Amino acid sequence: MKGEMNALVQYAPFDNRYERVEIPQIGEEEILLKVKGCGICAGDVKAYHGGQRIWGTGEQDRYIEAPVIGGHEFYGEIAEVGRAVTGWKAGDRVCVEQIVPCRKCGFCREGKYWMCEGSAVYGFKQHAAGGFAEYVKLHANSILHRLPEDFTPEQSVLIEPIACGMHAVDLANIQHEDVVIVAGLGAIGLAIVNMARLRLPKMIIGLDVRDFRVKKGLEFGADAVVNPMEEDVYERIRAFTGGKGCDVYIEASGSGASVTQGLNLLRNHGRYVQMGVFAKQVNADWNVIGDGKELTIQGSHLSALTFQAVIDGIRMGLIKTDGLISHRFALEDWEQAFETAQKDERALKVMLIP
Ligand SMILES: [Zn+2]
Ligand SMILES: [Zn+2]
Repeated sequence: MKGEMNALVQYAPFDNRYERVEIPQIGEEEILLKVKGCGICAGDVKAYHGGQRIWGTGEQDRYIEAPVIGGHEFYGEIAEVGRAVTGWKAGDRVCVEQIVPCRKCGFCREGKYWMCEGSAVYGFKQHAAGGFAEYVKLHANSILHRLPEDFTPEQSVLIEPIACGMHAVDLANIQHEDVVIVAGLGAIGLAIVNMARLRLPKMIIGLDVRDFRVKKGLEFGADAVVNPMEEDVYERIRAFTGGKGCDVYIEASGSGASVTQGLNLLRNHGRYVQMGVFAKQVNADWNVIGDGKELTIQGSHLSALTFQAVIDGIRMGLIKTDGLISHRFALEDWEQAFETAQKDERALKVMLIP
């Protein structure tokens, strides 16, 4: 397809530009997707604010290849397919996994594509320009999933963030006797509460510093919620667990203070799962992990073979999506949308519509 489109291009920290760019031309194995919606990830806001995880400390450790169109939580309708593409045709409604794996490295060959050493995440690399645009060129190595006919725009945009949450829940290995804490009740944290509930543990406790989110935690299946800014969280968790501490702590806030809090709230032999992404390096007392509690620390990166399960879970009504999209904006109003995602007390997932 020839012509121009509107896109939000990231040039540098605090320098995003909504501008006209060429519609990408596809090769034989590529697909052109008409974007119908794209969620704003905490990572996109961190990218805008110059987060070190994305911009590095200089050229040598910079992840983002600017200028590049942002956004990795998108879905849409296929506009064009390259000649060598099989299984997909114009008009198909799909969502796309955020990662473009290399399909060649050891992890890819073992099927662990989310750990790929040569991967790109949409919206950060120039060969994987993102969904804050009218069209996205899908790299030949992209992983596509067909959307059920009746999926709403909100449900379609939520698949990616929920898939990341599901991976964290899978890695937490929740047992029926476990008291599980979910720290951070944004859209993903709430979905984690929901999916942890499906594993039928003894108790789920949600933590967040915003009252609106704390209340939402109960709606999504938490037995109890605590706002650590307003209550003594250590006191409350001790009371819930007979002084022992929680069995599982899933960190989904990306706040440094939540790390120390988690290490201190866990019981001996507890399991800590890191899913939130931090804007910068975090300090914590590692003695709590070793010489003390023998904790298991488990990292969680992106989503791992969870997209289809999330689609099925939403379709069957097991995974709740109502209320997780708090705001919708036209792409041209991106600035207000980013501001809302970052600051609005009542913001959960904010979506942009090109
Ligand atoms: Zn994301
Ligand atoms: Zn690979």
